[in-house]
Amino acid sequence: MRILITGGAGFLGSHLCDSLIGKGHEVICLDNYFTGAKSNVAHLLGNPNFELMRWDVIDPFKVEVDQIYNLACPASPIHYQYNPIKTIKTSVMGAINVLGLAKRTGARVFQASTSEVYGDPAEGHHPQEESYWGNVNPIGIRSCYDEGKRCAETLFFDYHRKNGVDIRVIRIFNTYGPRMRPDDGRVVSNFICQALRGEPITIYGDGQQTRSFCYVSDLIRGFESLMEKEGITGPVNVGNPGEFTMLELAKSILAITGSRSEIIHQPLPQDDPKQRRPDISLAKRELGWQPEVSLEEGLRKTIPYFSEVLGG
Ligand code: NAD
Ligand code: UDP
Repeated sequence: MRILITGGAGFLGSHLCDSLIGKGHEVICLDNYFTGAKSNVAHLLGNPNFELMRWDVIDPFKVEVDQIYNLACPASPIHYQYNPIKTIKTSVMGAINVLGLAKRTGARVFQASTSEVYGDPAEGHHPQEESYWGNVNPIGIRSCYDEGKRCAETLFFDYHRKNGVDIRVIRIFNTYGPRMRPDDGRVVSNFICQALRGEPITIYGDGQQTRSFCYVSDLIRGFESLMEKEGITGPVNVGNPGEFTMLELAKSILAITGSRSEIIHQPLPQDDPKQRRPDISLAKRELGWQPEVSLEEGLRKTIPYFSEVLGG
């Protein structure tokens, strides 16, 4: 198949490019390099099945493809808040452009949605099930990302109902692994880089907030399982239900790296969700998917990557 990946030069996109090329598909990788980098896919450049396109998803594009994975969007709070209007345009206009392309070509189209559609889950909604409509602040500093992704989901379902577009919507929970940028700003890369540099580990707030961390190879397997499955639209949660406080995460990283960095506390950003854990019953039942890599194992695979990038 010929497959378009928007945001293909980013962290998740580049792993997806590798996996699909490995399976013998032709891949067109489209990216504006805002948070991604050519270096993430440089090893694929000589491959005749791989094509790299510098383009912005907010502008329409025409390519003939069988499948589309729409991943273009900055994912880290510091990056998506840098230019919030651009972030919302990327989600909304990007969705309209990939859906228009899918409508014209008949391609199956996949949306990388997020656990952020659940916002800061209200009481009684932990873990988060796909049926939960969420608790999202529409006017806060995270809204450009959360509401952009929610609007993209709406567009996917409207194109599906009105135009018969073949959609797959996945809700990704915090994922980490090699090729995250050291300056990505998300918690796993921050803590690992701080530990390796011997700098203080910056916990925002008291560190009792929780997240559930999925290793990248598990997630990419989930992407492909959903894309290959017939008769399903999603949304489907894909994430690792192992739930950890940020303090526990910091301590694990300190233990694995053997770092003597101290832990310091900094202010908790506005609207920071207090807890997050996926209910993955649907993914298990419909896709036969569940994560295989524990947090400790995933950290042990990720730390050497950062160590190399930081020149250690
Ligand atoms: P990333 O920032 O590494 O990747 C995003 C990619 O999209 C980058 O290569 C960036 O340059 C590109 N991009 C951004 N705006 C663009 C635009 N207007 N036009 C073209 N390309 C553009 O982040 P990631 O972690 O790889 O995330 C990939 C997707 O998965 C995103 O849509 C994100 O919202 C979603 N997601 C990721 C996570 C996670 O934990 N990694 C969780 C939930 C959802
Ligand atoms: N966080 C932290 N220190 C950091 C970066 C993040 O304590 O250096 C916290 C952040 O406040 C949040 C959690 O880690 O509670 C996950 O943050 P991240 O930005 O990785 O993802 P998101 O909040 O979007 O789930």
